[in-house]
Amino acid sequence: MVSRVIPVDPFDLVIFGGTGDLARRKILPGLYRRFLAGQMPADSRIIGAARAELDDAGFQKMVAEAIAEFVPAERQDKAAIKAFLDRVGYVSIDAKGTGGWDALKSRMRENVVRAFYFSVAPALFGDLAERLHSHGIADAWSRIVVEKPFGRDLASAKALNAVLAEHFDEHQIYRIDHYLGKETVQNLMAVRFANILFEPLWKAEYIDHVQITVAETVGVEGRGAYYDKSGAMRDMVQNHLMQLLCLIAMEPPYHFDPDAVRDEKLKVIRALDAVKPEDIVRGQYLAGGGQGGYLEHCEDPNSRTESYIALKCHISNWRWKGTPFYLRTGKRLRSRASEIAITFKEPPHSIFDDAKGWRENVLVIRLQPNEGMNLMMMIKEPGPGGMRLMQVPLDMSFADALGADAEDIPDAYERLIMDVIRGNQTLFMRGDEVEAAWAWADPIIAGWEARGDRPQGYDPGSSGPEDALMLMHRDGRRWREIKG
Ligand code: NAD
Repeated sequence: MVSRVIPVDPFDLVIFGGTGDLARRKILPGLYRRFLAGQMPADSRIIGAARAELDDAGFQKMVAEAIAEFVPAERQDKAAIKAFLDRVGYVSIDAKGTGGWDALKSRMRENVVRAFYFSVAPALFGDLAERLHSHGIADAWSRIVVEKPFGRDLASAKALNAVLAEHFDEHQIYRIDHYLGKETVQNLMAVRFANILFEPLWKAEYIDHVQITVAETVGVEGRGAYYDKSGAMRDMVQNHLMQLLCLIAMEPPYHFDPDAVRDEKLKVIRALDAVKPEDIVRGQYLAGGGQGGYLEHCEDPNSRTESYIALKCHISNWRWKGTPFYLRTGKRLRSRASEIAITFKEPPHSIFDDAKGWRENVLVIRLQPNEGMNLMMMIKEPGPGGMRLMQVPLDMSFADALGADAEDIPDAYERLIMDVIRGNQTLFMRGDEVEAAWAWADPIIAGWEARGDRPQGYDPGSSGPEDALMLMHRDGRRWREIKG
């Protein structure tokens, strides 16, 4: 059922920051899985490049440990792991100095795709871009992959874009947002644009509101001081939730082509209204369950950074005028769950005398756990006793539909890295999109900073601050339960 695996072209992929957390948890295990699936050609090479003084064997050992830790046991094939490791090398490099660059150059081969994954702090992006060029390692066909955070405001995002643009064209730059690599997110586009069913209803006339939720159960312990410099708005809303909102709200692109899709997303961001202060709720989790609260975890008792945010926004265009989009995301909440819920309006007139039990149609797109979609429909309650209505889900969970093959759905990182090798930028953010999202977020952040707003405390394991419930109640609506 899962589509054939089409191998990509042979490549040399350099992972700057190859010994880091992201490389160990996501990038390297993901590449192994693509190798196992037959998508990474045998004549491809992966080169770790980081500060640690390691040789090839030392890095291969680290990669083997990462596979052992982060790849499910049933996917650990001894022969395949060995063959994969044979394609892994390492160069000790200093992004800010001269050491290692000649060695890296000597490792690169001609006539293969060259890709450079910047899995390092953004402060090093400029140094890496400059050295890749001055040492003649990158050419006009090379690609670079950059990780979030892409700036912390419009000015810093512009500066990052400018520094990359000095050495790379926009078509060479892949800004990763792993939410866009999720199967369901892409399916959202398929559901919208490959079926006639929803499109006529996909507008303010028929859609009451949209809820986008990204809830986490973990707190920021261990990296609180780092997180405290950003907060939920910068860390999640400006990028991940904004991208999801764009995919729901955008007009049909003329073609499933990178710039056509990204042009339409950009138009959505530009049509967003400023968010009113009363439509924003920020929170910090309190201590509980034997764990410290946010203020302890961030090591600053006076911190005003939010670990939770809920807000209501409006898109001022013909399609969406009048339909609010409610976004919320937070740490230490009841369950780990990400979903988009599109609530349709009531039928204009009920022909049933007893409308008891009547509920709205809701299309729920689950990103995690259990990627899939659910359409809540009204039917007649079975049996005699007149016409009573009940709501049932039309469930389209990938795990059920695909059976054992669901295991083979690549994780978001795997898919996105293969897209980089293929040269397909559709699922990556363009520079102007990122800047437009910051242009929207900046005044919101500046507003609460100027007012000196303090986030409201919320209990760990709850669904967020009380005021967030009120944000919906005021409008006669309710948040969906956060369920894992
Ligand atoms: P990390 O601190 O675990 O690793 C950093 C890596 O950069 C190490 O390999 C280190 O050797 C290398 N490095 C640091 N300074 C260097 C220099 N001067 N020259 C060469 N190499 C140098 O960081 P991480 O968690 O792996 O994150 C990497 C990037 O990915 C960051 O931009 C981060 O914001 C982003 N990111 C990480 C995650 C995650 O889950 N870890 C998620 C999303 C985005």
